[in-house]
Amino acid sequence: MTERPIYLDNNSTTFPAPEAVEAVLPLFGEIYGNPSSTHGFGQKARHELELARENVAKLLNCKPAEIVFNSGATEGNNTAIYAALDGMPERKHIITSRTEHASVLEVVRYLEQSGYRVTELNVDRLGHIDLDELKNEISGDTALVSLMWANNETGVINPVNAAGDIAKQFGALFHVDAVQAAGKLKIDLAEEAAIDYLTISGHKFHGLKGAGALFVREKAPFLPLIRGGHHENGRRAGTENAMGIVAMGAAAGLLNREMAKHVEHMKLMRDRLQSGLLAKCDDVIINGDQQDRLPNTVNAGFKFIDGEALLMMLDAANIAVSAGSACQSGGLEPSHVLKAMNVPLSAIHGSVRFCVSRYTEAEEIDAAIEQISGIVKRLREMSPFGHTETRNNGLSVEELEKHKAYFATA
Ligand code: PMP
Repeated sequence: MTERPIYLDNNSTTFPAPEAVEAVLPLFGEIYGNPSSTHGFGQKARHELELARENVAKLLNCKPAEIVFNSGATEGNNTAIYAALDGMPERKHIITSRTEHASVLEVVRYLEQSGYRVTELNVDRLGHIDLDELKNEISGDTALVSLMWANNETGVINPVNAAGDIAKQFGALFHVDAVQAAGKLKIDLAEEAAIDYLTISGHKFHGLKGAGALFVREKAPFLPLIRGGHHENGRRAGTENAMGIVAMGAAAGLLNREMAKHVEHMKLMRDRLQSGLLAKCDDVIINGDQQDRLPNTVNAGFKFIDGEALLMMLDAANIAVSAGSACQSGGLEPSHVLKAMNVPLSAIHGSVRFCVSRYTEAEEIDAAIEQISGIVKRLREMSPFGHTETRNNGLSVEELEKHKAYFATA
């Protein structure tokens, strides 16, 4: 067990930057007005909100007026999808991919029940969509193409620029879930001119939970998801979460000044972790493309291991990693992302997502590698399947059945 807890789950949420926390403190004191009030108290709060809007707009290289503050990316994704479909009432087709976040997939699958046709693009073994499949599926009936910039489980990056160009050729609207890209990849909405809607969430880049931003391009159609007031220029009703927004603005400001440095650090830590795991553990595969990948993410599949046991033992050892990529919490259904990528069953259950941040230290990585390799070894010794690789880099049919039966009862 490590002395200090080691947090390697930064795609789930991140440590609030001290600069962000500091920026919020006055809102617990003198700046408590409602930003919509016209008096001085309100206007002070409004001023803080507009500074945050400028910082967020700068991070995305768009106009401040194109930013709508909301409760986070789940709301942002829902809003963008409904707004796009409302803006194209004559079109009844939506294109997305099989590896999107639930806040996109569950919305479009719901819409499918009310008459929309939905195409979920496949991904290859490395997690990439195929632009030819997009070209084949898109038509004059396609209202919306919705793709994530980078995947939260594998870190694999989508070719959003090229996909957006295809969407535009067919007059479709284009939405990008950029939750995992913000703070890790350059987002330039002046360059990425095909993007009509883009979602980010403050707590994924060292802000606070419960505040996000939706970019809506100036001329893109819009429909508020939440009604009941004139907040956010009539685009999102409800008194703004001033603290969350100010924290997000400060976190964005920090990125505007120092993102290149943070990215360099994350890459170093990620690569140190990956090479350590590969050197110290047998039968481990890296899931997803290792080139077109976020600077902070390693998704590692430890073959012949029950992922839940691995996560529990890591937790007991004071190391936090994500359960989402192995088994969905409360169930044994393997990750939809890894399934879509056809990760072999021998590795899919033992796949774990490690995500570093700019605060991760080399000593933490080294301590984590020691712990993980020890735990993997112990679990392998306990494994009912032994530890032998079979033909085709996977399990035989017999073993597969045994494996399935084991995971059905485990
Ligand atoms: N999209 C992606 C890719 C995500 O990783 C997440 C968070 N797990 C969301 C959307 C939802 O973000 P939020 O927590 O702000 O609702």
